[in-house]
Amino acid sequence: MNRLVIVANRVPNPGERGATAGGLAVALKDALAKREALWFGWSGQIAEATAADPVETRIGRITYATLDLGREDHRRYYLGFSNGSLWPTLHYRLGLAVFAREDHAGYRAVNAAFAAALAPMLRPDDTIWAHDFHLFPVGAALRALGCRQRIGFFLHVPFPPAGLFCALPRAAELLTDLAAYDVIGVQTEDDAVNLRAALAGVGQEEAAARVHAFPIGIEAEAFTTLAEKAIGKRETERFRQSLVDRALIIGVDRLDYTKGLPQRFCGYGQLLARFKTHRSKVTYLQVAPVSRGDVAQYRALRRELDEWVGRINGQHAEPDWAPLRYMTRAVARPVLAGFMRMARVGLVTPLRDGMNLVAKEYVAAQDPEDPGVLVLSRFAGAVAQLPGALLVNPLDPDEIAEALDQALTMKPAERKARWEECIVSVRRDGARAWCREFLSRLEGANDA
Ligand code: ADP
Repeated sequence: MNRLVIVANRVPNPGERGATAGGLAVALKDALAKREALWFGWSGQIAEATAADPVETRIGRITYATLDLGREDHRRYYLGFSNGSLWPTLHYRLGLAVFAREDHAGYRAVNAAFAAALAPMLRPDDTIWAHDFHLFPVGAALRALGCRQRIGFFLHVPFPPAGLFCALPRAAELLTDLAAYDVIGVQTEDDAVNLRAALAGVGQEEAAARVHAFPIGIEAEAFTTLAEKAIGKRETERFRQSLVDRALIIGVDRLDYTKGLPQRFCGYGQLLARFKTHRSKVTYLQVAPVSRGDVAQYRALRRELDEWVGRINGQHAEPDWAPLRYMTRAVARPVLAGFMRMARVGLVTPLRDGMNLVAKEYVAAQDPEDPGVLVLSRFAGAVAQLPGALLVNPLDPDEIAEALDQALTMKPAERKARWEECIVSVRRDGARAWCREFLSRLEGANDA
């Protein structure tokens, strides 16, 4: 079998395995186990200048090839254009997007540097798969260097309506870059419709025909096992005892403005204010590890959330009850799986999300005999696979409060029926299926 080349902003640390590995590494595990592979990208390290030659580490049949990024390149490509311009725009938040020509130039320069370092390592029959918004131009940069291999691209985040995307300066150039790919994957049919329209708008009808939706999933069985094993362990039981029989609501997100956390906290406050029977009977644990702490908007969000937590606990707490527990540290995955299994409600209300794997993890973690209820934003890509969830508009705190009340008072038979509607596709549309379907589309592409 020919070699698979993965190109991504971050390359997993070769030492990372199983539960500690990043989401993409888990999703690709099967594909990488079956064939020789090269994983190329940023090392995560910052140096004086961007390295020209990758550092290679070989583990089994996988070669990891990484480049350190220069300080300026990191600032412009990663913090500036990727996180400051593209991330908010792709999540429909044009008002938060900043644009600077030097950032845009840095983004293109790093993509060109990636292509220049990767091209000499390629074999004529490699299959190349580039990932996410950091790397829109890498395929075109490889083509410019004469690469004729099959190259696919997958966008893990949403793609907004064309008019919104095209308000970003130089958007047309990014769309033209996409035409270099043989297959362009997105998470949902809505994203596919938006991206095709955007491509058609810049005269790339042929590229538009190569856009397909491939919803990403989780390794459901492995996550269920993690959750089952966590029950009875010391950390899980200590937490259970601290709840003294109160129903648990759980939220798990990176601390990001796309996740709708202020509105969610406000919604929980509304629950306590409007549905008084839940007072002293419920505990909401929000785990939100700080991410991108070096970007200004993320620091501002953190302050805003600190205020919300103080306000809600200050207003509603009793001497023996704090309604909201909030942690900005990461929690180990096995512990988190156990907490999810204990929670009567999984609260997942992003304002916009490419997929949202936490929603699927919550479903996979449940006890089939006594499952909890998922309260889910209608703007998460995962909606299509989770028909049993209670859907909310994440911008409407009253709707969140009403859904929480409905979930907390739901009879066991309805909880079970709703969970069964969700678990079927969480199991079926797993990470492996996602990978297999993308690659079979890509590898069939040039043979057609
Ligand atoms: P995003 O990719 O935007 O962070 P997803 O929900 O798609 O959102 O994926 C997040 C992944 O990170 C999930 O696998 C989730 O379990 C994990 N994760 C999120 N928050 C935490 C946390 N506080 N501790 C440990 N893992 C977390």
